[in-house]
Amino acid sequence: GATLGMLGGGQLGRLFTLAAHDLGYRVVVLDPDPDSPAGRVADEHLHAAYDDPWALDRMVQGCAAITTEFENIPAETLERLGASVPVFPSAAAVRTAQNRIREKTFLRASGFPTAPFAVIRDTQDLAGAMAEVGVPAILKRAEFGYDGKGQARIATAGDLQAAFARMGEVACVLERRVDLALEVSVVLARGIAGQACCYPVAENEHRNGILDVSIVPARIDPDLAVTARDMALGVAAALEYQGVMAVEFFVTHDDELLINEIAPRPHNSGHYTVDACASSQFEQQLRALCGLPLGDTRLLSPVAMVNLLGDLWAKREPRWSSVFAAPGARLHLYGKREARVGRKMGHYCVLGENVDSALALAREIYRAL
Ligand code: ATP
Ligand code: MG
Ligand code: MG
Repeated sequence: GATLGMLGGGQLGRLFTLAAHDLGYRVVVLDPDPDSPAGRVADEHLHAAYDDPWALDRMVQGCAAITTEFENIPAETLERLGASVPVFPSAAAVRTAQNRIREKTFLRASGFPTAPFAVIRDTQDLAGAMAEVGVPAILKRAEFGYDGKGQARIATAGDLQAAFARMGEVACVLERRVDLALEVSVVLARGIAGQACCYPVAENEHRNGILDVSIVPARIDPDLAVTARDMALGVAAALEYQGVMAVEFFVTHDDELLINEIAPRPHNSGHYTVDACASSQFEQQLRALCGLPLGDTRLLSPVAMVNLLGDLWAKREPRWSSVFAAPGARLHLYGKREARVGRKMGHYCVLGENVDSALALAREIYRAL
């Protein structure tokens, strides 16, 4: 098999690397962290900055194609690599997705529904944004936010002023807080010729701004699920996207779908595809990258996925026998040495007769960890 390049060494890169190894490929991982989860399973680990000229040259020379697992890879890096080898997703798609102002402006301009939002670049924009968006609202920094970091809840003009100052007056969007019935997401893959496929809709529960549990299929009206999948494919087409991407949605109490954000990579809410689908999102990433036929997204069993955060390690190592003993449960740990609060250390999936029984067993396992 050929050698593929992976920009970013986190758990998404690790799961990609494992899927690539299954298919006989070699993987070179670039990540500044010498002990990254993907780097430790890669065939070669370059620990250097994402704009390090030596490391980029090495990737170009050694890799047949290059992909990414981290949306904050500088778009210039993708552009530079893309001049010599196939790089997917493209610099243009990542540039749009890695900045909330560009992302939301693109969605709105392309006719996709979003929560009301306004752009804030300096203090002069605050009053106008507040008037346009209304309250309650959320201030989100345009770049480098994840797991709900870089966000502040806003109820008054005073809150907004204080939060913007606390963020260091960096570019932000102010977004209306939506009264959520549910959150769902769709992971999809799109190939060179525009052929695309998408996975069933996942229903997502967050805790403290971090994904906690995903349940598939989502407990939503089947027509709404079709609409969500169509919309996600529409976003990918509008971006001329190639590779795997995810679209996060809000579902309102009137069964209205709003697009929250796009992830230009496999997604945490798509981890269930490893244990419950014919082809996983990581295998799909490889297929799209290598120009192979896309895989079968069929769901083989209802499934619940639970994230394991560092918090669980606070007192002692979790009791893994709780997962190992449960029928239909599968554990994945990312090999991170340090269990910090809020850090994603691993996840497990529970397959079941239906989502409710899978979820009930998943929660039972969690309590016994
Ligand atoms: P990640 O990239 O890790 O998914 P993020 O830091 O980019 O997270 P968002 O997806 O914008 O953050 O928000 C995190 C969570 O906060 C959402 O999944 C949702 O639960 C809640 N949230 C964000 N924006 C809104 C909103 N406008 N209305 C209601 N809830 C919101
Ligand atoms: Mg995000
Ligand atoms: Mg999100």
